[in-house]
Amino acid sequence: MPISEISKEAVESAYQRLTGEAESGGYHLNPDVAFTKDLIRGLLANEARYGYWACPCRLASGTKDDDLDIICPCDYRDPDLTEHGSCYCALYVSGPISRGEREAQAIPERRPPASERKKMKAKGSQGHFEGGETSLPYPVWRCRVCGYLCAREEPPEQCPICKAKKERFERFM
Ligand code: SF4
Repeated sequence: MPISEISKEAVESAYQRLTGEAESGGYHLNPDVAFTKDLIRGLLANEARYGYWACPCRLASGTKDDDLDIICPCDYRDPDLTEHGSCYCALYVSGPISRGEREAQAIPERRPPASERKKMKAKGSQGHFEGGETSLPYPVWRCRVCGYLCAREEPPEQCPICKAKKERFERFM
């Protein structure tokens, strides 16, 4: 679906939902509402195009399995927030930026190149943690987006902290 066909109502509804989820999870959307809604329009267009919220600032492959790390919120959001005060697109920003005490700036791309991602995938890791054998009664699952850990048979349907979906969890131990 072309980006121009995304309705204002759909953007507004997603904006309200994301704002609520971000604030309840300790995150902040960019206070420039027009800019933020443009990014959300891009996310909705990508959902219509690919079936998932591929990052609006990156080139998606169209194969979900290869794009898991850039489904919004991407695996790189939190380290970028910590290091630079915003995610790569500046949809999510730090407290000082959200309060207007600092301005968001262009930041370097943290996503590894495709060749490196392929090697990581072959090793069974997206590059954050290597799994290991354990004698714990339940496997431990880690949310690759925010680092939330839980011990249970299966990862939760949705991360209770950052709202990332089940597929974004990796087996940690
Ligand atoms: S959190 Fe990641 S995927 Fe979402 S808009 Fe920011 S950079 Fe793009």
